[in-house]
Amino acid sequence: MNYSNVPSICPYCGCGCSFFLQVLDGELVGILPNKSQEISKGQLCIKGWHANDFITHKERLAKPLVRKNGELVESTWDEALSIIASKLKEHAPDSVATLSSAKVSNEENYLMQKFTRLVLRTNNVDHCARLCHASTVVGLNKSFGSGAMTNSIPELENCKCMFVIGSNTTEQHPMIAHYMMMAKEKGAKLILADPRSIPWSHFSDIHMRQRPGTDVALLNGMMNVIISEGIEDKKFIEERTEDYDALKEMVGKYPPDQVEKITGIPKEQIIEAARMYAKSEVAAIFYSMGITQHTTGVDNVVSCANLAMITGNIGKVGAGVNALRGQNNVQGSCDCGALPNVYSGYQAVTDEANRKKFEDAWHTTGLPANPGLTVTEILGSAAKGGIKALYIMGENPMVSDPDIKHVKESLEKLDFLAVQDIFLTETARLAHVVLPAVTFAEKDGTYTTTDRRVQLARKAIEPIGESKPDWEIISLLAKKMGSNEFNYGSPADIMDEMARITPIYGGISYDRLKVNGLQWPCPTKEHPGTPILHKEKFSRGKGKFWAIEFKEPAELPDAEYPFILTTGRTIFHYHTGTMSRRVDILNKEVPTGYLEINPADAARLGISEGSKVVVSTRRGEIEIDAKVTERVKEGVVFVPFHFAECAANMLTNTAIDPQAKIPEFKACACKVVKANSGSCCQ
Ligand code: SF4
Repeated sequence: MNYSNVPSICPYCGCGCSFFLQVLDGELVGILPNKSQEISKGQLCIKGWHANDFITHKERLAKPLVRKNGELVESTWDEALSIIASKLKEHAPDSVATLSSAKVSNEENYLMQKFTRLVLRTNNVDHCARLCHASTVVGLNKSFGSGAMTNSIPELENCKCMFVIGSNTTEQHPMIAHYMMMAKEKGAKLILADPRSIPWSHFSDIHMRQRPGTDVALLNGMMNVIISEGIEDKKFIEERTEDYDALKEMVGKYPPDQVEKITGIPKEQIIEAARMYAKSEVAAIFYSMGITQHTTGVDNVVSCANLAMITGNIGKVGAGVNALRGQNNVQGSCDCGALPNVYSGYQAVTDEANRKKFEDAWHTTGLPANPGLTVTEILGSAAKGGIKALYIMGENPMVSDPDIKHVKESLEKLDFLAVQDIFLTETARLAHVVLPAVTFAEKDGTYTTTDRRVQLARKAIEPIGESKPDWEIISLLAKKMGSNEFNYGSPADIMDEMARITPIYGGISYDRLKVNGLQWPCPTKEHPGTPILHKEKFSRGKGKFWAIEFKEPAELPDAEYPFILTTGRTIFHYHTGTMSRRVDILNKEVPTGYLEINPADAARLGISEGSKVVVSTRRGEIEIDAKVTERVKEGVVFVPFHFAECAANMLTNTAIDPQAKIPEFKACACKVVKANSGSCCQ
C-alpha cells in the first residue's frame, strides 16, 4: 500500500484554510486538517471537511464535448481545440472576450489574461470579482492606494472593537469569524450593521438593522457623531491624510436624527455605535458583499475607509479595513491581472511603460492600450451583437450574474461559446465546445487568501478521465493559434515569469512557499511579506478622504413591487453550487433555495412555513418555498443565490456602480404571491 498526505488548500472560501489530501494507492480517501498553518490551526468548517467529496463525482467531465446537430457529443482534444482556435480567429479582437476564474490558480489566471492580451489582442478579460468585490478594488485604491484587505487573519483576535457591516462572517468566512469570536471572548466589542438578523446578532453589543442600500448615510451619521463630539484622531488626520475639511463639511449634513429617517436605525444606536468604535483603542471594520454589491458600492467602500481614517484605525495590529473576499482565489485572480484595465499586480494597461514591460516579457509589440469590457459589459455587448465569441474558464454566469434571462439571451446570441469547467454547468450546457478541466487536487498551483497570502497546493491524484489542468489547456490553445510564448514545464515556471514583471509578487517563488505562504507586497527574494498594509504611510502616500453623499438604490419598492429583495449565501453552499451541490452532506443540510419573509408580511399574504410562493421583479419570476422568520424585517425578503432551480438572479437588477461596474445584487423591488393564489402581496 502506498499512502501519502499531500498539502493542499480548501477550494471554497477566501480564508484559505490548509489541509492534507489523504491519498491511498492513487485514490483520494480523506482530508486531514493542517495544525501547522496559522490560519486554520487544524480546524475546518463543514465545507472544508468535505472538500474532497466532489472531486471524483460521477458527473465530472472526462472528455471534450463538441456540439453536433444541436447536441453536445464526446470528441477529441485535437478537434475541440481546433474548433476553438478557428472560431476565435474568425472575429476581430474587439468582438472576442474571455472570462477567467476566481476558483482556479494564480498561474492559470495569469495565463488567461496573457492569452487574451497577447494571442487574442484584446483587453476584454474579466471574471466574477466584478460581481463581488470590484468596488473594493476601486474604492480602497482611491482611499489608500491598494484595493485589498489591510490586515491579517490571525491578528484579528487582538481587536478591541469589531464593526461588521454587510458581512455574514460566521456563514461566509467561518475561520475569520472564529478569530473574531476569540477577540469577543477576550472582551472586544462587536457592532453589527445588517438588515437581517444573522448569527452575529446573538453576539453583538449593538445590532443596527438598516434599510438595504443606506450604508453611506449610516457611515456618515457615525462620522458626524465622532467629529461633533471631538473624538476623532486629530494627529492621524493631520499627519497621515488629506482632504479632511471637505469630508468634515459634508458629514455635517448627516446628524443622527436625519440618518434615522433614512436608514430606519434609532438615532441612539447610531450615537452609541459611533462612540464605541471611536473610543476603542484598536477598532477594525469588516465588510463584504453587503457593502460592495450596490450601485453605490464604491461610495460604501470609501465611506468605510473614511471612518477608519478619522479614528486612526489603519496601519496597526488588530485594526484596519478588512474587505473579506469571497472565493478561494478571487484575490489572486485580481492580483494576476484577470481584469480588463490592468496587467498582473494592478499595472494599468493604459500606461505606456507598463505595456512596454509586458511587450518585452512576452516578445511582442502593440499590446492593446484601451481598457477592455467588464463581465456585465461583455454580456451586454453580446446581446447587441458586439461580442461574438466568448471563452469562459470556470465561471457560471447562468447562475451567478444578475437578470439570468438576459444572460441566457446574450449567450445564445453569440456566434461561438467555449466553456472550460469540471462539470457540465448551466453555462456549459449552452456552449459549442466544452473542455474538461481538473480540480485543485489534480494539479499544482498557488491561491491567494483574502489576507493577500499566496499559498501552494500540490497535485494529489492524476486527472480524472482525459481532463487537463487549465494552465495546460490555455497553453495548448495558444500554441494551436500560433503562439510560441506558452512553453511552460510546470506552474512554477509560470509563477517565475509573473514574479519577474509583477512587483507585488516579485519575491514569490515555489521554493519560498512554506506552510503559511507569503503575503504580498513581497517585492524581493529576501522580503518576508507584508502582514499589515499602510503602516508608516499609505500605498498612495497620504490617505485620501472623499466626501460622499448618500444616494438611494437604483430600484425602490413601489405599489406594484412593494418588497425589497436582498440576496446572499448560506454556510452549506458556495457560489453557484457547482461543487457544494455535489456533496451529499451539504445537500442534506440545505437541499434547495428558500425565501425568508417576516411573519407579519407572511400572515398578511396567507403564507405559512413551507408554502410555495412566486417572487417576481421587473426581470423575471421564480417559484420557491417560504421560510417565515424574524430574520428579515417587514418589507424585506431574502433569497440565497446558489440554486439554479429557483435562481435569485432571475430577479436581480443589472443596474451597476458607475465606477466599479458591479451590479446591485443587494437591493431591488419585488412582489411576493402565494403560488396559485393569484392574489398579489399589496
Ligand atoms: Fe474552507 Fe473557508 Fe471553511 Fe476554511 S472557512 S474550511 S477555507 S470554506
